[in-house]
Amino acid sequence: MNDWQRLYQLQQIELQLEAAKKKLRNLPVITEFTQLKNETADAKEALAWTKTKLTEQKKRAKRLEMDLLQTEADLQEARKKLYGDRGQSVKELEQLERRVELLHKEQVEKEEMLILAMEGNEELDKALHKAQARYQELRAQLLALQKEGNAEINSLKEEIKNLQQQWQKLRAQIDNNLFHEYQQLRKRFHGRPLARVENDICTGCRVQVYTFLKQKLKEANARVYCENCGRLLIAAL
Ligand SMILES: [Zn+2]
Repeated sequence: MNDWQRLYQLQQIELQLEAAKKKLRNLPVITEFTQLKNETADAKEALAWTKTKLTEQKKRAKRLEMDLLQTEADLQEARKKLYGDRGQSVKELEQLERRVELLHKEQVEKEEMLILAMEGNEELDKALHKAQARYQELRAQLLALQKEGNAEINSLKEEIKNLQQQWQKLRAQIDNNLFHEYQQLRKRFHGRPLARVENDICTGCRVQVYTFLKQKLKEANARVYCENCGRLLIAAL
């Protein structure tokens, strides 16, 4: 194996490295994980909101209940006065009747409000259980995906590490000047400046390589370029 053949192997490793790195960046599990993470965060927020709301509403219902009890006591008191026959004047009796009427109306209204509040609390309670279940489910999914994703990520990282070790080993065997020349060529040919000749075809552009070029390839250290794409041709091993 001569230096150009080693360089060709180096090029192939570099291509594999680029592909593996790109695959790691675009791993579906990473996109999926980010999406699921956002969903879980939203579910957590919804759960916290429902909890706060329920606490507030329970306090409100409690206040309504106390208020209703007070109105009921006031009504009882007013009725006692009205029917107690304590010799009130007609005007006083009229006033008492008005008060009883008003308090009764208030009582009915407050009872209705309390019923609505209790119903609202029941709904919120159901919503809370739902939010809790959703959050727990998403969290479990997220943890499972994380585990699965880690395995996939680690195997790709391992592959990259192996390729990097192979690259270093090869690089140490290649002459510096030649390596720099290869790097210049690399820029021109988007990472593929060297093309192996397989079945008389340039693997860089898939065009036939003429017999006299094939002959030249057999000479030691000869530089033969593809007439079509300009890549440096490497004889098949
Ligand atoms: Zn070519």
